[in-house]
Amino acid sequence: MLRTHTCGELRLDHVNQKVTLAGWVQRVRNKGGLIWVDLRDRYGVTQLIFEEGSTDKSLLEKAAQLGREFVVQAVGVVIERTSKNDKLPTGAIEIKAEELTVLNPAKVPPFIIEDETDGGDDLRMKYRYLDLRRNVVREKLQLRHRMMQETRKYMDGQNFIEVETPVLIKSTPEGARDFVVPSRVNPGEFYALPQSPQTFKQLLMVSGFDRYFQIVKCFRDEDLRADRQPEFTQIDCEMAFVTQEDILNTFEGLIKHLFSAVKGIELGYVEHMTYADAMKGYGNDKPDLRFDMKFVELDHLAKGKGFSIFDQAELIVGICAKGAAEYTRKQIDELTEWVKRPQIGAKGLVYVRYNADGTLKSSVDKFYSSEDLTFWAQAFGAQPGDLMLVLSGEAKTVRKQLSELRLKMGEDLGLRDRNVFKPLWVVDFPLLEWDEETQRFHAMHHPFTSPKREDIPLLETDPGAVRANAYDLVINGVEIGGGSIRIHDRATQQLMFTHLGFSDEEAQKQFGFLMEAFEYGAPPHGGIAFGFDRLCAIFGGSDSIRDYIAFPKNNSGRDVMIDSPSTIADAQLEELSIRVALKK
Ligand code: ASP
Repeated sequence: MLRTHTCGELRLDHVNQKVTLAGWVQRVRNKGGLIWVDLRDRYGVTQLIFEEGSTDKSLLEKAAQLGREFVVQAVGVVIERTSKNDKLPTGAIEIKAEELTVLNPAKVPPFIIEDETDGGDDLRMKYRYLDLRRNVVREKLQLRHRMMQETRKYMDGQNFIEVETPVLIKSTPEGARDFVVPSRVNPGEFYALPQSPQTFKQLLMVSGFDRYFQIVKCFRDEDLRADRQPEFTQIDCEMAFVTQEDILNTFEGLIKHLFSAVKGIELGYVEHMTYADAMKGYGNDKPDLRFDMKFVELDHLAKGKGFSIFDQAELIVGICAKGAAEYTRKQIDELTEWVKRPQIGAKGLVYVRYNADGTLKSSVDKFYSSEDLTFWAQAFGAQPGDLMLVLSGEAKTVRKQLSELRLKMGEDLGLRDRNVFKPLWVVDFPLLEWDEETQRFHAMHHPFTSPKREDIPLLETDPGAVRANAYDLVINGVEIGGGSIRIHDRATQQLMFTHLGFSDEEAQKQFGFLMEAFEYGAPPHGGIAFGFDRLCAIFGGSDSIRDYIAFPKNNSGRDVMIDSPSTIADAQLEELSIRVALKK
């Protein structure tokens, strides 16, 4: 090997040893007759010292010519430093250099390769391979690596078998657009890249695999956001002969194992909440439970007092921000402006301040006596010092708006600590969701999700009210996984397709293979998939999944480093029997 040690391992114990190190030049400090070089590799930084007198002249000259990011090999003796750096694990020693070999010079990098860099996002993306040299970035990928190894360890320990499923498949209806790949040998035909291995993992259950998992790339052609990438990774899982409880227990086990093994955190009890309760209590199917601020409905207290906005509203609902009565008029005005922004869309914000002296002051004092407001405060469980914030309007819309306000207040009041983790199972999702645009029902999870048996009759009378055997795992307001108990018989699967507006022929054409498989002895089964990138981001305390992906795409789905997507040569198109005629 070109080195005897790494740049992160030498300590006082090594003093007087002759060592060979190799790495990148992070920094050179030249004081004339004295030159220090910080040498970096993946493991750390070690200081080399070149000194006039004890070092021969040509060596000193060589060191003086080193530039940032040169790749070098240095031989020398470990000595104790006179002025130690206790911020650096190797800070007690340095290497008195005796030989120096430049293995490869480097151009001046386009940005500083240190924890604090001067490189903007775009530049760092273009030179991602340089960005990855920075500790802060590499550490994120190391966390990802750890998570992957621990996932495999747990799953293997639970008897799961890792099976790879194909990447060139046919469309899976997960609700997003497919990426497609033309087939050269079948002109005019296309593969689709999997949005998930959903149908394959179900077929593996029919095959008797019983417990499957895979850490797998999935592809969805959606509009991009900070927490979305066109290709992303799932921990994809399926089990046979299990109930929903079995699945929740097994994967609660996985998450607890990861927290314990990777972060040294013992997660406590994982709460279960129905979708209906989550929507009613938090206006959101992925509530952040690091803080309370549960919704309180005020219709029975606030209607019929002459305040026409409330009288006309379908729902009057609010939150109580503990200790926020100190908010100034200006701060409340800012909150009002905030909820009125088009992104939130509220018409206005009513507040009730529960002053420290026990008096109540509201923005609707004209309509409500202090006795009325005392009833409100009781409903909120408010105490002197609290601030109640109330919205009204169409029920579904107002819950959504209040959910945003709740998250903002949680943020403003410092209640969303990144080092606190509150996992939650949300269960009993609706089976179907009405889509205004297409004027029909869509599967809320996917078409293979089973309805609750007792709700099946509702499919005919009130399809929107049918509950599914579907669940999500939420941590700190982020959905990190979701799954369901599946349909495993042809008749129910066919019924489901009918309700989703598929004709028998369409259903047969797209999913005939699955429905046929169900006729050859399909065991009851169910599963779940976790968004692995997102899980890593949560563990790392970051909002962006991009940081946890070695070579991510930007907001336009572009890899600016390799410059992709790109056009292809005419000859390639010819081979694929494709002519490109872009729409203007
Ligand atoms: N395939 C589903 C998804 O990607 C997860 C599941 O139902 O297992 O959301």
